[in-house]
Amino acid sequence: MDSFSCRRNRVVKDGRKTSVVTFAQRRMTSPVENVLIIGAGPCGLAAAHALSKVLPRDTKIDLYEKAHQLDVPRGAGLGMTVNGLKSLRAIDKSVFDHLVDQHAMIIESVNYLDPLGKVLRTEHGEEMNRKQKESYGLHGVQVGWFELVSTLRETLPPNVAVHTGTRFLRYQEEENNHGLINVYFEGQEEPVHAGLLVAADGYFSRVRQQCVGDGHPIFGGNLFWRARVDASLAQKFNYKSGHSAWYFGDNRVALVFTISKGHMVWTASCPEAELVDAGIDWKTVTKGKEESSAMSSDFIQRSMSNGEDAKHRLLKVFESFDQDQLLQLFKATDPTAIVEHALYVRPASDLRPEWFGKGRVVIMGDAAHPMRPTGQGVNQGLEDALQLAKCIQEAGGSFEMLDRFRANRTERLRPIMMEAETRGKAAYQKSAVAPRYDTAVASKEQIQMNPEDFEAFLFDGADFEPLEVQA
Ligand SMILES: Cc1cc2nc3c(=O)[nH]c(=O)nc-3n(C[C@H](O)[C@H](O)[C@H](O)COP(=O)(O)OP(=O)(O)OC[C@H]3O[C@@H](n4cnc5c(N)ncnc54)[C@H](O)[C@@H]3O)c2cc1C
Repeated sequence: MDSFSCRRNRVVKDGRKTSVVTFAQRRMTSPVENVLIIGAGPCGLAAAHALSKVLPRDTKIDLYEKAHQLDVPRGAGLGMTVNGLKSLRAIDKSVFDHLVDQHAMIIESVNYLDPLGKVLRTEHGEEMNRKQKESYGLHGVQVGWFELVSTLRETLPPNVAVHTGTRFLRYQEEENNHGLINVYFEGQEEPVHAGLLVAADGYFSRVRQQCVGDGHPIFGGNLFWRARVDASLAQKFNYKSGHSAWYFGDNRVALVFTISKGHMVWTASCPEAELVDAGIDWKTVTKGKEESSAMSSDFIQRSMSNGEDAKHRLLKVFESFDQDQLLQLFKATDPTAIVEHALYVRPASDLRPEWFGKGRVVIMGDAAHPMRPTGQGVNQGLEDALQLAKCIQEAGGSFEMLDRFRANRTERLRPIMMEAETRGKAAYQKSAVAPRYDTAVASKEQIQMNPEDFEAFLFDGADFEPLEVQA
């Protein structure tokens, strides 16, 4: 375990030290005095930061994560958009400054290429960034997933304790006890008590399965491959630091981009039909492994052993692509660095406030709204964290306005999830390289807003004022 600083009894189970709040101690802890967060991904960590601002300083916040180790580089890279950055800045300006100063990469240019590597269009980063900054006060950046998560974890305030290697199993709400929740973890007989249970446990959220009971997300029809590589490797094949390369066409998409001075990331994906055409029985790749096929820590471990197979599948699907650069980069990538995962989503049309939990159980991040990766997954998770804290702040530190949080997030997320569905599918169409994604969409009825209005809604359409720190 990383740390454990609250007043708890320590017991030894299965040779491991574990901790529980006893009933006697609980009597001294009013329900609002402790928060339990499941999942130390970007959203769980951001929620810990945000809640520590708006709850009284002595409120215990315990974060439980099933992965045993959080300090080994994992993940690939993320685009942090204006709304995600504004959310992080509103949660904690010093964390935002640290991330941006130490880890953010500014996009210098984006090349859009056809499958053979011919540049069809170039966007200049300086101009894009200047326009965004003029309109919204900030511009988007690229960061490593690991750098974002590490920054959030290393800057947690002292009232937050992280418990690694601890898998959430189930919870039980105590009747007639101010909504107190008993939370059960693997290998621990005694429950841990929580005044608020926040589920940030990703795609296959166990909390959600119990709370909402609407089963797993559905297969979104695509397989993804990602790898974080040394920048020097990508540079060997003429990929330049700060310059992104998007390959679109023939039903496949690939992207190479920079996440730090020393690292670049590539991602590749294709729909199911391409896998079938390439003779790949993808169902055997993911069958029975839903929970582990969505970038969970277990899967990251497992992919170390099947990286060769994943690489073989990737090369087969992309064999007709740019032989001089992209294929060379794929071939030169260490198979143990390759993560292969299926896409799982929930349809935007089904979105409703219950997706964000009920009573004293709050669901957020991918657990609440898994969507196609068009750049809003992590950014919406950061928004969830900020908006949850704002509702608690407005309710004077109580949990009375959680339903308002759920209603507001539903309203905000609906067009964003719909756009992700439309844009995600358009990416595989021939015209995807068009400057405006709406011209690449086959069915115009799918367009909710024109791209300019949507951008304004996304980057400006929420309350991004800083949280007020509680005494
Ligand atoms: C290791 C990893 C690497 C990733 N890399 C990338 C990337 O490079 N690019 C990208 O776009 N997206 C990546 N993602 C996905 C991305 O983080 C999410 O899509 C998004 O940011 C939402 O974050 P989240 O915190 O809601 O969920 P997640 O990031 O999925 O975090 C959920 C956390 O909950 C933990 N958890 C799950 N079940 C339990 C349980 N029962 N008990 C305790 N803990 C549990 C998981 O181990 C995980 O740490 C990655 C996710 C993971 C877990």
